Amino acid sequence: MENNSIYNSIEDNRFCCGCRSCEQICPKRAVSIQYDKEGFLKASVDGDVCIQCGLCRKVCPAINKNTFASPMRYFAAVHKQDQVIRRSSSGGIFSALAEYVLKQNGSVYGCRLDENLIPIQSRIVNADDLDLLRRSKYIQSDTRQTFSQVKKDLLERKMVLYVGTPCQIAALRAFLQKPYEKLYCVDLICHGVPSAQLFQKNIEYWSRKLKSPVEKYEFRLKPSEHYHYYYFFLACKNGTTVQKPYFYDPYYEAFYNFKNYNEMCYQCQYACIERVGDITIGDYSWAVNHHPDLCERNNGKTDAISCVLVNSEAGKSLLNVIKDTLVLYETKREWITERNKNLIRPTVRPNTRDTFYIEVEKLGYNNWARKYYLSEVFIKNIPVFSYVFRAKNKLKKIIYER
Ligand SMILES: Cc1cc2nc3c(=O)[nH]c(=O)nc-3n(C[C@H](O)[C@H](O)[C@H](O)COP(=O)(O)OP(=O)(O)OC[C@H]3O[C@@H](n4cnc5c(N)ncnc54)[C@H](O)[C@@H]3O)c2cc1C
Repeated sequence: MENNSIYNSIEDNRFCCGCRSCEQICPKRAVSIQYDKEGFLKASVDGDVCIQCGLCRKVCPAINKNTFASPMRYFAAVHKQDQVIRRSSSGGIFSALAEYVLKQNGSVYGCRLDENLIPIQSRIVNADDLDLLRRSKYIQSDTRQTFSQVKKDLLERKMVLYVGTPCQIAALRAFLQKPYEKLYCVDLICHGVPSAQLFQKNIEYWSRKLKSPVEKYEFRLKPSEHYHYYYFFLACKNGTTVQKPYFYDPYYEAFYNFKNYNEMCYQCQYACIERVGDITIGDYSWAVNHHPDLCERNNGKTDAISCVLVNSEAGKSLLNVIKDTLVLYETKREWITERNKNLIRPTVRPNTRDTFYIEVEKLGYNNWARKYYLSEVFIKNIPVFSYVFRAKNKLKKIIYER
């Protein structure tokens, strides 16, 4: 009999993004999602239960591609409220969209870190919970039951905003199988996700180092004096806090340098200008070169500027109703893609990806991190080496951005 199901074993699903659309659609519950040896969520099928109906293949965003045409319009944008910008990764566009949908008694889905600091897609209906979903979590998030919840909301005629990586949005659309008038999907410009289990190891590492369990971790903190840096913030149970640039955290540094993504991310078919969300949001700090007056209005905070791509009629009408909460400047595609290369192609896979997770496993996270510290952070802080390091990074960027 022809094998119509998606994957037969956890071994042959390297290019699975772990979105759960197959698991959620399977009428026999034959698909389960498990962590692979690198700690990524991956689908596997129980051959004894599978009836070969093929639904899982039909909704898989790695097998199928269903995007809009190129965006209709491009904007540089910031939220008008400074306290929203401060709590957001870039310009607070997600908050503006979510505030509107919540006011319509709708539901908003996005990613939060749960009490164990595991990233999960979650539903909120109350503006008091908005901050949980704000800010980027640079980790593969677990969609759990959210696709089924979205369907239930839509059948109850609720307005829904779902924000996620492009593969998650493609998966949601495929799972729903038909368009819904009250559904607004927002995809992120995404360069890839490391595994949630690797992030857990990083949390354990910091807990051991600081001798107290880490209870809070935030990427993209914006300390006022260093608005332009990618800072992380963590807080321990005993009150200890750490707030430093990304390269003091071995996990974050590896993420920033493309070393530890899901294999699928390096071949992502959604890393292109044709988008899957009604609206696409991303960073646009270099808007300062093209819209200096926008930067001036934003008190010189370039890291707090977003790009917004309008990809469908639904996206156009949604942006239209929230436009008064934002400062919006029409911009150009080629200005956004100057640095946002993931609108053109997937992240280039570094050779070091071959051994990244193997090395972490072999050395143990602590030893791996120590080795990293000795070779990167320690050397970087010696002035003469810091010049070499900066030059090396510049060169790497030029090669990467070519
Ligand atoms: C893994 C990842 C990679 C990214 N790569 C790029 C990039 O290469 N270039 C670029 O311009 N922008 C990238 N971004 C987007 C960027 O970091 C900001 O999220 C974006 O600019 C929106 O900022 P904001 O201030 O409007 O919203 P914010 O308040 O920062 O809200 C961010 C939204 O993203 C959702 N989210 C956060 N983490 C995840 C996750 N792991 N999975 C799914 N959804 C999530 C949140 O729920 C929220 O809805 C990436 C984001 C993520 C999560």
